[in-house]
Amino acid sequence: MESENTIQKEPMKKETKNSAPAPKPTIAVLPYQTPRLRDHYILGKKLGQGQFGTTYLCTEKFTGTQYACKSIPKRKLLCREDYDDVWREIQIMHHLSEHANVVRIKGTYEDNVFVHLVMELCAGGELFDRIVQKGHYSERKATQLIKTIVGVVEACHSLGVMHRDLKPENFLFDSSHEDAKLKATDFGLSIFYKPGQYFSDVVGSPYYVAPEVLHKYYGPEIDVWSAGVILYILLSGVPPFWAETDSGIFRQILKGKIDFESEPWPNISESAKDLILKMLCRDPRKRISAHEVLCHPWIVDDRLAPDKPLDSAVLSRLKQFSAMNKLKKMALRVIAERLSEEEIGGLKQLFKMIDTDNSGTITFEELKAGLKRVGSELMESEIKVLMNAADIDNSGTIDYGEFIAATLHLNKMEREENLIAAFSFFDKDGSGYITSDELQQACRDFGLGDVHLDEMIKEIDQDNDGCIDYGEFATMMRKGDPGLGSRTMRGNLKFNLAEAFGGKLNLED
Ligand code: ADP
Ligand code: MG
Repeated sequence: MESENTIQKEPMKKETKNSAPAPKPTIAVLPYQTPRLRDHYILGKKLGQGQFGTTYLCTEKFTGTQYACKSIPKRKLLCREDYDDVWREIQIMHHLSEHANVVRIKGTYEDNVFVHLVMELCAGGELFDRIVQKGHYSERKATQLIKTIVGVVEACHSLGVMHRDLKPENFLFDSSHEDAKLKATDFGLSIFYKPGQYFSDVVGSPYYVAPEVLHKYYGPEIDVWSAGVILYILLSGVPPFWAETDSGIFRQILKGKIDFESEPWPNISESAKDLILKMLCRDPRKRISAHEVLCHPWIVDDRLAPDKPLDSAVLSRLKQFSAMNKLKKMALRVIAERLSEEEIGGLKQLFKMIDTDNSGTITFEELKAGLKRVGSELMESEIKVLMNAADIDNSGTIDYGEFIAATLHLNKMEREENLIAAFSFFDKDGSGYITSDELQQACRDFGLGDVHLDEMIKEIDQDNDGCIDYGEFATMMRKGDPGLGSRTMRGNLKFNLAEAFGGKLNLED
């Protein structure tokens, strides 16, 4: 990249917030006390510097495993909203944590001076640095990268999160190998939204900001715009809207023509340009959605691209849940109740998004509308099956606890302490076994009638002693996570539908 076109890394300042006075430095971000970071980790060299935080290499003392630790000095948090922003960043990272292209959060620590976010280490550096080194990528390589980036956007949107700060320096490679995975980091400006909700705070970074942000009236479509800017840069090495000053850049964003004449554009496929124009459409209502980008020929026709983008996260989780046996569902409900606000805050927002009348329960109609909004085209009968599966107590609606259990990502429950807690919930007398009587009692407590207990136990009871020990329980809990939207998932849904309709149904895939 030529020097005058080098993309500057300074993010735009947030709008001045004058709603609350600066808090005293001892105020807490986390709603609970944490152990001290340095009792568990050793901080190492500095890895990067962002707007709020400095990221260090860190090593877990007990295991020697390396992580990255983003330390946010509390003196930089000037008002209540800044504190809320950090707390939201943590919740959103948990909310998206199962996505293969989102940096996984490991833990959070807070002392008087810092909030520390310990996360998966991405040792391969920023996408930004690779663009600067290489100038630009081949079309094929760019296809793969943008597919990953827009895949993250789609996952965010289907989970009710807007990223708001997509740019190449917020994507990191997890290693320096040729086949390194690209991962999204920095959800510091991300926010939960409801469909139809509009925002007005001007946030983001100059080159990547969508025109409607500058007009202070925007929704999640802004992420697609920013991804379109990234795509343009990946293919050409220079930003599509460029000027010497911020205000010059903004003028270009609002009015400038996109240059497809200069090098290397004459040699780039029409399909790529078509996609860029659709992503950089100034009218957000006419702009292509993240889901549609993933269906665009330039993305789909790539050598190895699968035929269809993934299901939305909500949908595949519901499907997954519907394929579980009843004990596993009850156990998830128990575990859901134990999880912290930090881990399930995102699902709570999602519940609120689907529960449009704020009644505290989700009806069939609300679920149908909610799934439609996240882009699914399910049939009524399929949605009914999912609804019934999530409605553990057969009340006809899904309550908050049921929703969390049904949409919880399974990586949350696999933690040993959660499995132990769930096991002891069922093993009322602490004998080390869940007996048939205990299971029956639990089913009654959960409002589950008409369960074939013997069959259920037989399925889990590997040593055929008629009850379930911890090992069998843990195996059952851990097995059969078919992964997001995979074919097996479809298979499971089919199986369940068939079961529900007495084996007479023959659904098309
Ligand atoms: P900020 O919100 O302050 O912009 P970021 O989360 O973007 O903070 O982190 C700042 C920089 O630290 C990143 O641009 C990157 O270079 C580095 N960094 C962040 N997370 C990681 C990670 N998980 N592994 C390695 N480096 C990281
Ligand atoms: Mg950043």
